[in-house]
Amino acid sequence: GVRDGLGAYIAKPETYAPDVVVYHNDDFVAIHDMFPKSSLHLLLLPRDQTKTRMHPFDAFEDTEFLEKVKTETRTLRKLAAGELRRKYGKDSAQEQTRQAALSADPPPDELPLGRDWEHDIVVGVHAVPSMNHLHVHVLSVDRYSERLKHRKHYNSFSTPFFVPIEDFPLAEDDVRRNPTREGYLKRDFTCWRCSRGFGNRFAELKQHLEQEFKEWKKL
Ligand code: 5GP
Ligand code: ZN
Repeated sequence: GVRDGLGAYIAKPETYAPDVVVYHNDDFVAIHDMFPKSSLHLLLLPRDQTKTRMHPFDAFEDTEFLEKVKTETRTLRKLAAGELRRKYGKDSAQEQTRQAALSADPPPDELPLGRDWEHDIVVGVHAVPSMNHLHVHVLSVDRYSERLKHRKHYNSFSTPFFVPIEDFPLAEDDVRRNPTREGYLKRDFTCWRCSRGFGNRFAELKQHLEQEFKEWKKL
């Protein structure tokens, strides 16, 4: 069924073009999400046969496995940050300042730091995944995409329904283990960047996300 759609990438990553499979090794496959919910949205798929059918909360109980996944997400976060720099770096005020300093004659003793794009990448899992194969989301913070079409799309990445990889292992009594009871997906919208509330006004939120995206790029 459609919920098994990620299995094919794990089985035969070498059969996909680079705009689909970003890279693969013995233990992981990194792919582009087919329905991206941000301007950059990747998925990390662990290939471990004993884990791939498990809920992430259960799979990450294995601390050795968890550490392997965390290490790989650091690699993918760097790669994603590099992609953001290529896409938006030239627009960013901080990058322009750095470039100007670099080309000054003589260049200053201390160069201003470039923008830390890794800071603009979020990594985590959904408390209730819709796809069966274990996957970790690696996406830019902007939540700006044509494919973000439903209220649950936004809230699944913008409430505690999204559990950052750094938060694992979860405590036994962590409330995020009961996502349905918490009703995260039905919450009022809050802008990821300025925290403004949008109630249940999705169209208004979408317009605002476009504005925030433009400003975020140029930061
Ligand atoms: P989940 O909600 O299960 O955490 O996220 C599953 C993700 O897989 C979603 O973001 C969805 O867009 C993505 N997805 C679903 N089917 C496919 C597919 O066939 N190929 C790719 N590359 N991504 C998919
Ligand atoms: Zn905002």
